[in-house]
Amino acid sequence: MKIDREADALLIVDFQNDFITGSLAVAGAEELVPVINQYIGMFDNVAASRDRHKENHPSFIDQGGPWPDHCVDGTFGMEIHTGLKLLDSASLTIVDKGRYEEAYSAFTNTRLVYLLKAMKIKRLFICGLATDYCIKATVLDALKEFGSKVFLLTDAIAAVNIKPDDGKIACIEMAAQGAEELIIGDFE
Ligand code: ZN
Repeated sequence: MKIDREADALLIVDFQNDFITGSLAVAGAEELVPVINQYIGMFDNVAASRDRHKENHPSFIDQGGPWPDHCVDGTFGMEIHTGLKLLDSASLTIVDKGRYEEAYSAFTNTRLVYLLKAMKIKRLFICGLATDYCIKATVLDALKEFGSKVFLLTDAIAAVNIKPDDGKIACIEMAAQGAEELIIGDFE
């Protein structure tokens, strides 16, 4: 795989403190920092999504939702892990999702498609958290927008795995819909 620095973009999904060391920490997430940084160094165009909720968000357990409080606006937990060298990228786009309603996909009620198309992005390479929720929803939406040109960076994702195989099953579903799996060694 050879990266086209103009037409390819890296999309880092929800690599935020609450999903790494906080209230919804995903096992193995922090170990992804060096490999995501390697990917950041390979792409000129980098986009990142953030889960960003108001207080008393409907996805929180005390509001009847499935998740502990996480990624509340203005908290440390909402911030992207400072180990990521995002500012090394030539072009950085950040979108926030899920402010009022739960949104797993980085494309739900955000300007991400518009922004990527304005940048003339043709292929999307996706990594981040978590494989079985926001990665899966984002990849499936990306396939609708970018056809077969969506790649899942399987060495730079980690799963919640409420059931032990959730991450694996999500990868099978994404591949079945047309996402191609890559690891860093597949790039020139
Ligand atoms: Zn959330």
